[in-house]
Amino acid sequence: DGNAEKFEFQAEVSRLMDIIVNSLYSNKEIFLRELISNASDALDKIRFLSLTDKEVLGEGDTTKLEIQIKLDKEKKILSLRDRGIGMTKEDLINNLGTIAKSGTSAFVEKMQSSGDLNLIGQFGVGFYSVYLVADYVEADGAFAISEDTWNEPLGRGTEIRLHLRNEAQEYLEESNLKELVKKYSEFINFPIYIWAGKEGDVEVPADEDDSGDEKETGITSSEEGEDEDADKADDEDAEKKPKTKTVKETTYEWELLNDVKAIWLRSPKDVTEEEYIKFYHSLAKDFNDEKPMTWSHFTAEGDVEFKAVLYVPPKAPYNLYDSYYKAKSNLKLYVRRVFISDELDELLPKFLSFLKQGIVDSDTLPLNVSREMLQAHSSLKTIKKKLIRKALDMIRKIAEEDPDESSGKDKKSMLNIDVNAEAEKSGDDDEKKGQYTKFWNEFGKSIKLGIIEDASNRNRLAKLLRFERSDGKLTSLDKYISRMKSGQKEIFYITGTSKEQLEESPFLERLKKMNYEVIFFTDPVDEYLMQYLMDYEGKQFQNVSKEGLKIGKDRKNKELKESFKELTKWWKGAITTDRVDEVKISNRLDNTPCVVVTSKFGWSATMERIMQAQTL
Ligand code: ADP
Ligand code: MG
Repeated sequence: DGNAEKFEFQAEVSRLMDIIVNSLYSNKEIFLRELISNASDALDKIRFLSLTDKEVLGEGDTTKLEIQIKLDKEKKILSLRDRGIGMTKEDLINNLGTIAKSGTSAFVEKMQSSGDLNLIGQFGVGFYSVYLVADYVEADGAFAISEDTWNEPLGRGTEIRLHLRNEAQEYLEESNLKELVKKYSEFINFPIYIWAGKEGDVEVPADEDDSGDEKETGITSSEEGEDEDADKADDEDAEKKPKTKTVKETTYEWELLNDVKAIWLRSPKDVTEEEYIKFYHSLAKDFNDEKPMTWSHFTAEGDVEFKAVLYVPPKAPYNLYDSYYKAKSNLKLYVRRVFISDELDELLPKFLSFLKQGIVDSDTLPLNVSREMLQAHSSLKTIKKKLIRKALDMIRKIAEEDPDESSGKDKKSMLNIDVNAEAEKSGDDDEKKGQYTKFWNEFGKSIKLGIIEDASNRNRLAKLLRFERSDGKLTSLDKYISRMKSGQKEIFYITGTSKEQLEESPFLERLKKMNYEVIFFTDPVDEYLMQYLMDYEGKQFQNVSKEGLKIGKDRKNKELKESFKELTKWWKGAITTDRVDEVKISNRLDNTPCVVVTSKFGWSATMERIMQAQTL
């Protein structure tokens, strides 16, 4: 295009381009998914704007929220057009090329550490994938922009024209594109059309024989309709001498490629496991084989109605706990099928921000209000509350379905299984084996943070808590309770920096000897956790390094106390009083002669250590 203005890429972008252009990447086809995904985003944006401003949609054809694909075999151009929000010249320059976006270097890094180009969409640089298949977009060399190039005026929206590389000519084949749309863009909520050719018999005047020529007649030919008189005249003519003949001709029309019925609107029993997995991949923009750990698809009824699909991802995002307070769920909020936002903080609490993928679609929320008003809407609180419950149910089910979890004497939780037919999934035990351990290793910290942050769900969350036993296996509080010795009233635990360190602790001498189980907490967050978790199922927690530990009944204690009274008194006096509250006879030791114990409400030694590290 001679009118196109050219722009140079910034250095960082050039590096990214080098990687893409020179990649021997076999999945070049992902470019189409990225383009369609951008078109869909742009359509979501205009639809959202149209809620409060009807005018933005314009009239006639531009009101159609759809995506169109056209192929030009002669010029080797693949065009993709949408009637979305469109881009101004500035937008085009900023968004599609020259200026490095925040994800650029992260993506380059990922690629260099033998990463997968397939993940490009996650880094906000998906558009560049067009260079997998195109030499240039609209002009030679650098990328270029130009206005309205579609046959008819474009009106609102964007058109991207790819001049396909020689090695990418297969993307001029209609059948290939249809297949790709099916493969990658199944869950796009706008109709996707292709300008499809169909070969068929056409009557043409006998004397104007131009058979063999492919002619674009388009849908207009059928719309024109036939003049009745002309028909009659033709029939009469035909009786005398044939004036028309039949030739093969390709006619073109827009062919719809997708079914736009949203997956979440379907009944869970009609959606296959494979569809849920594919839907997850499309939400996550992660098209690797990894499956989500689990999901929950449900309808909430009552004052606030909504449908939702939630997913537990296979892995925690790499920086989930480094920037915990910045971490965000990308849960998508729809109101009556209209996409509103995937950046709302109001849908899930911080501790569930690891549930990055999912959707919520509510009929109760108002449509014609601004995002700010929606954010403040009281129904969002109800939605959040229900989402938390459902999320915790979903997580609990991972444990219940994990055969590893039910081993050991754990009568209590065996009885507690409540079956929710809605989310019941088929699948063999093998797949579920060890799933909860996997979940715990990835997201256990979130459960702990939940206990700290969410008082109303504390007990439900405590049920999901796991800790390591000395054999390395995970166990739960329910299981701990089921193993408690007769007469044991409290749940014993100790905090420290490592299992090895704790094994040596003099605080455990006697407890070990008497076969009491003590929970080891070695994560720094545990120290905070235990300030919030006071009791569980009516049992108090007792830090065994703190004052107040009672082990069984020890009748001798009273006598000993009496006979060593002079010693303890002397001892207390010998140490400056502000450093030690009390000196007592204890039954917690075995070999060690004495030990320093934390007072009931004081900081444990581990907490002292944490606080010291923080103030340094
Ligand atoms: P992302 O979609 O993750 O933001 P991309 O590299 O795919 O990253 O796209 C970059 C930006 O270009 C988009 O955020 C959007 O602002 C703009 N854009 C891309 N395609 C379109 C389109 N079809 N219509 C409007 N804007 C678009
Ligand atoms: Mg994109």
